[in-house]
Formats: sequence, C-alpha cells, structure tokens
Amino acid sequence: MANYEQQVNDFMAKVIAKNPGEVEFHQAVHEVVESLIPFIEENPQYREAKILERMIEPERVLMFRVPWLDDKGVVQINRGYRIEMNSAIGPYKGGLRFHPTVNLGVLKFLAFEQVLKNSLTTLPMGGGKGGSDFDPKGKSDNEVMRFCQSFMTELQRHIGPNTDVPAGDIGVGGREIGFLYGQYKRLRNEFTGVLTGKGLEWGGSLIRPEATGYGATYFADEMLATRGSSFKGKTVVISGSGNVAQYATEKVTQLGGKVVTLSDSSGYIYDPKGIDAEKLAYVLRLKNIKRGRIKEYAEKYKVEYIEGKRPWDVKCDVAMPCATQNEINEEEAKTLVSNGCIVVSEGANMPSTPEAILVFEKNKILYAPGKAANAGGVAVSGLEMSQNSMRMSWTRKEVDERLHQIMRDIHSTCVKYGKQGDYIDYVKGANIGGFVKVADAMLAQGVV
Ligand code: NDP
Repeated sequence: MANYEQQVNDFMAKVIAKNPGEVEFHQAVHEVVESLIPFIEENPQYREAKILERMIEPERVLMFRVPWLDDKGVVQINRGYRIEMNSAIGPYKGGLRFHPTVNLGVLKFLAFEQVLKNSLTTLPMGGGKGGSDFDPKGKSDNEVMRFCQSFMTELQRHIGPNTDVPAGDIGVGGREIGFLYGQYKRLRNEFTGVLTGKGLEWGGSLIRPEATGYGATYFADEMLATRGSSFKGKTVVISGSGNVAQYATEKVTQLGGKVVTLSDSSGYIYDPKGIDAEKLAYVLRLKNIKRGRIKEYAEKYKVEYIEGKRPWDVKCDVAMPCATQNEINEEEAKTLVSNGCIVVSEGANMPSTPEAILVFEKNKILYAPGKAANAGGVAVSGLEMSQNSMRMSWTRKEVDERLHQIMRDIHSTCVKYGKQGDYIDYVKGANIGGFVKVADAMLAQGVV
C-alpha cells in the first residue's frame, strides 16, 4: 500500500505543478487516481500507454470573451469556456454552468468527472463541460437572452451534433437552453440535436428535466436494497432547490420517503411534515418562474428557516446533496453519521469533501459519488440525442424505464468493481467501472 501511496503522491505532485491553482481539479483527480493506481498496476497495458496521464489532459480548452449589453445599455464582459476533455467513446458531452464561481479549475474538474460518468451510462458519449462566470441571478430575461446569444455566437463554431453536445447545469435551465439553441440555429441555419435539455416542442426528451433527481433517487433505492431496505418511511434531507433537488424530492416522495429540507445559497428550510406534491409545486413555481428565494417557502408554510446554514444537522436516514461542490465537510459528515444517516447519494457533483468521504467510508455508510448517482441526467441527454438522430420521440414511460435500467446497471457496475467483503466501495467501483471502457477505446485508437 505504501508503494501505491507514493505513486499517488508523485502523480499528484506533477498534476499540481502543471495545473497551478486549480484546486477543484486537483481534488477530483486525486480521488480518481487513488482508486485507479492499484488497478493500473494489475493491468500494466494502461500504464505503458500512459492512459491516465492522457486522460487528465483535456483534448482542447476554449476560452473566450462574452461581451453583452445590460438593460441600461452598459457594456458587460464575461468569460466563456468549453473544456473538450475526452472523445474516445463519443462526441464531447456535458453541461454548461453559469455561476460567478466558474473558473478553469472548476470546469476541468467537472469535465474530468464527466468522462467517467458518461462511460458508466454505457451510452456512446465522451466528456466535456463549459460555462461562464455570468450570474443569471437578478438579471432580466432580456439580459439573460443577450448574454446567451453572445455566448453562443462564439461557442457555435466549436460544437455540433457529432462533435460536442452541451446541456444545462447550475444556472442553465430550460430558459437558457432555449436562448442558446435559438442563436445556434440562426447562425448555422440548421435544426439539429446540438444541445440537450431542449423544450418538448423543439426536440427535447420527456423526463430530461426530471432525470438527474430521479436517477439519484433510483440509485439510492438500489443502495438501500443491498441492506434489504427501501425509501418507505425514511426521512430524507436534500440540499439545493434547483433542478436536481426538485425532482429528487418528487421521486423520494413517490417512493414513500419524506423530504424535510431544501436550501439555496442563503439558507435552508426545515419542514418536519414533509414536502409533499402540493408544496413541491409551489417550490417549482417559486424557483423556476418567480426566481425567488427558498426563505419564501418558510413564510408561506410557517416552518423554520435557518439563515446562512446547510441542512446536514437535521436528523435523517438518507442525505442527498443536490446543490454544489464541497457542500458537506468533515464535521457535517460526522453529524450525519451520528444522527443515524445510512445512505448518501450525491445529486450534485463532488458535494462531499475528501475528509467527509473518509468519514462515510470509515463508518460503512452507503456512499455514492456524483459520477455514479447523478449520471441519470446525462443518460437521458444521451437518449435525447438518439431520439433527435432518429427524428422520433419516446413516451414518458419508455424514457423513465430506460433511465431506471441505466441506474440499476450503473449500480451493478459499482458493485462489480467496488465490492470489498460485505462493503461496497462505490467510489472505487465508479472510478474503475468508468475508466475501463474509455481506457480500452484509447488503447485501440493509438497515441492520439
Ligand atoms: P440549479 O441551478 O437548478 O440549482 C442549483 C441549486 O444549488 C440552487 O438551489 C442554488 O442556490 C444552489 N447552489 C448553487 N451554488 C451554490 C453555492 N455555491 N452554495 C450554496 N448553494 C448553491 O442547478 P442544478 O440543480 O442543475 O445542479 C445542482 C448540482 O447538480 C450541481 O452540482 C450540478 O453540477 C449537478 N448536476 C446537475 C445535472 C443536471 O442535469 N442539471 C446533472 C448532473 C449533475 P442559489 O439559487 O442560491 O444559487
């Protein structure tokens, strides 16, 4: 083991020297390398071809200026990015994030995770990620539209249905995808499946908005089943109140669980009676149309609102972080465990810090990393691409069944590569399971 540790440290020293300041990228690579180095030792063909060294280097990084005019006629300038990380098994695929915290390191971490995640879905998709430091919060619809048009004016030369197919992520929902698609179509004069998460009337897939939240819930259900349990009667704590959190809440409730929290970057609400279908409909209107704050839920339903805090000190059986990276630290992980939490299913990408993950693993909690648990979103994006190519649309039931089966298959892959005695190491399982297909494709394609 000491030898592996040394190899991991040596590898990481090079990564850090070559990518200074990209802390989230270092964190994501470290977690993967820890699982992979022992596996690569047993499979020297990957070491000799330097597959891992190649996988951490993006195939291409695009950075560009995004100038736009605000409602007062003042010029604003943001920075746009697209990381085309790996195309060994299919066109680059991954979301766009619009958030002030976006920078190169954040997007490289997300793109790197995306490569393994997309491989786990079994669909033919490479990995990419992009976005901007633009903050849609507080902007008018017209400002968001002008920004999206400017962003796409540059991005359109680099993407295409067989090259690179972006989707949504934080700050990029149906409204933004619509504006981006409109501009792409205008500039390229073609109606094609270049983005996923499109509206139903113009090439979108049923279940795509629900897919990430539903998928993370299906995955948690599979984990519970390994201990002969289910969501019935379970108390569930969810963070975030955006796309992923909303549909995780819906599916947990349908499966008999009770969701007692939701949050945004200002604080969280605690509703001990549970967020039922009617209250969730209010959240959807509040967040997706009115674009208000979660605090308003507390005012409407007369429940507690805890300002400036995250919900992890609320007692629960299942925790589903669905907001952002590094939102559960070591202390919060310890609190979850001591409060009796048995499952953590990550709807968000890398929401648990490395120290928090150690706490989960030490206490034999069923812990699923985002690249496995939240792969449902990109999986249905893959299904949207297939439907676009065939110029067909599947029913809600068909897509949901495919999504459910994909999540079961990802769970089986994690068990296959991650089972250690009576414990399933989902981190190891997801990392190795995602790696093998991409690595074999890279071996077959030569030194490219
Ligand atoms: P949304 O923009 O719809 O919602 C994000 C939610 O998280 C909001 O409630 C937001 O609060 C909160 N949030 C965002 N940044 C922070 C922060 N820095 N601190 C605290 N809270 C924050 O995004 P999604 O629901 O689409 O994405 C959530 C997570 O899921 C992300 O990690 C994303 O990468 C991941 N994911 C999303 C997929 C998808 O299909 N959409 C697919 C796979 C993963 P506020 O409004 O205050 O900012």
